[in-house]
Amino acid sequence: MIIIKSDREIEFMRKSGHIVATVLHELESLLCPGVTTRELDQCAEKQLSRLGAESPFKGYRPTRSHVPFPGVTCMSVNSEIVHGVPSDRQLAEGDILTIDCGAVYKGWMTDSAWTFPIGEVSDDTHDLLDATRTALYASIESARSGNRTGDIAETMQRAVEDRGYNVIRHHTSHGIGRNLHEDPQILNHGRAKSGPILKPGMTIALEPMVLAGHYDTQVMNDQWTVSARDGHLTAHFEHTIAITDDDADILTRINCNGGI
Ligand code: MG
Ligand code: MG
Repeated sequence: MIIIKSDREIEFMRKSGHIVATVLHELESLLCPGVTTRELDQCAEKQLSRLGAESPFKGYRPTRSHVPFPGVTCMSVNSEIVHGVPSDRQLAEGDILTIDCGAVYKGWMTDSAWTFPIGEVSDDTHDLLDATRTALYASIESARSGNRTGDIAETMQRAVEDRGYNVIRHHTSHGIGRNLHEDPQILNHGRAKSGPILKPGMTIALEPMVLAGHYDTQVMNDQWTVSARDGHLTAHFEHTIAITDDDADILTRINCNGGI
């Protein structure tokens, strides 16, 4: 069931989204060779608490047989595409790190991810990041009242494939609000003019997950980390947005120098 949020509810989500953006911005300033993903995750936990929020990820358990997710953020390095578990792994010059962060503020959730270069990275790596970011903003442009979820899916897939990359098949964009994952589920690939119609007040997290190689992925032994099966680089950008009568309203963006 798709839930339409009131203006007041969207304002709570905007506050939640501002917290997520603030935490990501803070973590970006700490990125350097040698820092561990666990240290970054611990910083995120402190920042969320300072800002009056909690993580919707920590302890998350999609099924009873799953190990609860141990981190506040997902930290995915290089060929790890989503759901990376924070660890004592030290980042190295030339790595890329996806930080996926959520917040629960007064019961309202938002979700955002960004892939960051660590120090100097290759031109090919910059191109992958640029293509993924471009696919996110193209899909946000297609997220307009009256369009359908398939319009977003086709836009995202085309934006990625036009740049010579592949988009993930087994993970999707999603509705969000009181719960981290709500209807509608939005595939990152598909056909225009299919799926539910977008209406003002719908809140969704759009998240192209992009692979430089084949789109096959595998879940690692920790039960969480999803990696490219062929070991090639991956990138992931995500914003939580609200559908309006006009352009989509990006709830997880902060407007400042270097802001995402
Ligand atoms: Mg996310
Ligand atoms: Mg998400």
